[in-house]
Amino acid sequence: MVLSKTRILAAFVALLAFTIGAAAQDADLILLNGKIVTVDDRFSIAQALAIRGQRIVAVGSNADVEKRKGPATRTIDLAGRTVIPGLIDNHAHWIRAAEHDELRFDGITSRALALKLLTDRVQATPAGQWVEVLGGWSEEQFTDDPRGFPRDELDRIAPNNPVVVQAIYNHSYLNSAAQAALKITAATPNPPNGTFEKDAAGQPTGVVRGPGGVAFVAAGIPLFDQDAWLANTRKLVTYLNSLGVTAWLDAGGRGMGAKHYEPFRQLAERGALNIRAFWTTIRAPATPAEADAVINEIPQQKPFQGDDYFNQVGWGEGVYAPVTTQLLRATSNTKPEDMAQYRRIAEALAAHGLYVNSHVEMEAAIDAFLDQYEAINKTHPIKGLRWTFSHLDQVTEAQLERMKRLGMGAQIHSRPLIQGALMHKVHGDKAWDMPPFRRVQDSGIHWGLGSDATAVTTSNPFYTLSLAVTGEMIGGRKVNRQTISREEALIAHTRSNAWFLFEEGNIGSLTAGRYADLLVLDRDYLTVPEREIKEIKPVLTMVGGKVVYEAPAK
Ligand SMILES: [Zn+2]
Repeated sequence: MVLSKTRILAAFVALLAFTIGAAAQDADLILLNGKIVTVDDRFSIAQALAIRGQRIVAVGSNADVEKRKGPATRTIDLAGRTVIPGLIDNHAHWIRAAEHDELRFDGITSRALALKLLTDRVQATPAGQWVEVLGGWSEEQFTDDPRGFPRDELDRIAPNNPVVVQAIYNHSYLNSAAQAALKITAATPNPPNGTFEKDAAGQPTGVVRGPGGVAFVAAGIPLFDQDAWLANTRKLVTYLNSLGVTAWLDAGGRGMGAKHYEPFRQLAERGALNIRAFWTTIRAPATPAEADAVINEIPQQKPFQGDDYFNQVGWGEGVYAPVTTQLLRATSNTKPEDMAQYRRIAEALAAHGLYVNSHVEMEAAIDAFLDQYEAINKTHPIKGLRWTFSHLDQVTEAQLERMKRLGMGAQIHSRPLIQGALMHKVHGDKAWDMPPFRRVQDSGIHWGLGSDATAVTTSNPFYTLSLAVTGEMIGGRKVNRQTISREEALIAHTRSNAWFLFEEGNIGSLTAGRYADLLVLDRDYLTVPEREIKEIKPVLTMVGGKVVYEAPAK
C-alpha cells in the first residue's frame, strides 16, 4: 500500500501533537516544600518532586515542579520534611520469614519489655497455638538484664501454648509445651550440629543449642495453610514498608521450597505486592553426587522472567554446603576436595551466564574462593556477571583488589547489631574491623549495605545505617571502628544496592524516569544526632508511586 502525501502529513501532525501533549502531561502527585535527598550521582538536594503513574517525572524547586501541576494533580505539602529513596536491602531472608507470624524483638533493649511483649502475645493467642520469636535479637542487646528466658519463666507466662524464643541462630529457649510438642525427652538423640541441654539428672532443660538445634526446633513449628500464608505475607510486607524497606535481594534459606515463593508470586501477579522482591535459586548440595544433580539442573535456569516487583536474578547464597563458613567460628572449613566441588558448580553457573552470590566471611575462606573464581574466569569469564560475595566480615585490601579485577561486588551486613559482643568474644580485637565498612568504601569496589535479617539481625534498615555510622550494637555498646559517613551509608543502602538487583535504571535514587519508591521521614537523616539515626521512622512510604504505608497520626 502506498500512502498518500496527505495521509503521511496527517500522521506526522498526529505524532507531533502526541509528543507535545506527552511533554506537557500533568503529574498525578506533587510533593512540595521538602528536603528531597535525591541520592543522585551528585548527592543533590531538591525541594519538590512530581510523579506520574509509577515514575518520577520531575525533581527540582517548587517552581520547577509546579509546572507539572494540572487540575487533577494531587499535592502533598511536606512542610520541610526530609524525603529519601526507599531503602534497598541487598541480603535478607524475608521470603522465608513469611512462613510464620513471629513476634520480633527488633531494637528492644530491655529484657523486661521483651518479656512483656511475649506475655501480651501469648495472651492474644488461642490455647494450643504456637508463639515464636525466631532470632533477630541477642541477650547482649538487653541493657537491664542481659540474659535469656529459662523454661520456668516461659511456663509461667505460657502454660497452654508452645513457646519458642530463638536467640540469633545460636540457641532456642523452649517452654514445657514446646518441648512436649517437639517430643524432646531425656532419650531423644541430639540433632546433627545441635544439642539438647540436659540438667544434672539428665533431663532436657528447654534450651536447645547449635545451628542444627535451632533448625530442628524451627522445622517443628507448623506452617500456615495457603490463605493464611498469603495474608501473613501481606502483613510482613506492610511491616517492612513501615521500616522503610521498598526492595530487597532475598538470600533463600533453610527448608525453603516453591510454597515459599508462591504467595509473593501471586501478589505480584495481581499488582498487590507492595515491595520489590528479587531472589536467587538456592540449593545446598553436600556431597559430590548431590553436586552432580545440581550441575544437571543449572542449564534449565531461566532468570529475569518476572517483572520489577518479583524476579529471579541468579543463584546463591549457598553453593556447596560443606564450605559454608560461620561468623562466630574463627576457623574456615575450605578443604581442597570440597573447594573442588564448589569449583565444579561455580564453573557450570559461569558457563550458563548466571549471576552468583556466595556466602563467605573469613579471610582464609575469601582467598580460597577467589582462587577458584580467578581460575574459572580464564575459561568462562565472570566479569560482567556481577558476581558477589555476601558478608565479607574479614575482607582485606588485597582481596578487594582481586574482586575488583573480576568485576565483583561486595555485600556487607549489619550482623554486629546483635552479635557484636559475641564477635569480640570469638575473634578478639579483630572484631573491631568486622565488617570493615571504611576499608570497603575506600577500596572503590561496588558495594552495598544489607541486614541478613531475620534470624541473625534486626530487619530495620535504619539500624543498619546506624551501625555503619556509629559502630554501636543495639543497646549502645561500641563494637566496630570501621565507620563511614551517613551520606556514604545512605548511598550504600539505596543507589548502590539497585545494581545487585539489576535495577539500577529503575530504583535507588530520586531522579526523573525512575520509579517513585520513596520515604518521607519523621526527622532529617542528614542532621539528626548520629545516635538518633536508628530511631528514624517513615511517616509515609511509597512504592511505584503508590502509598503503601502511612504512619498513624499522633
Ligand atoms: Zn549468608
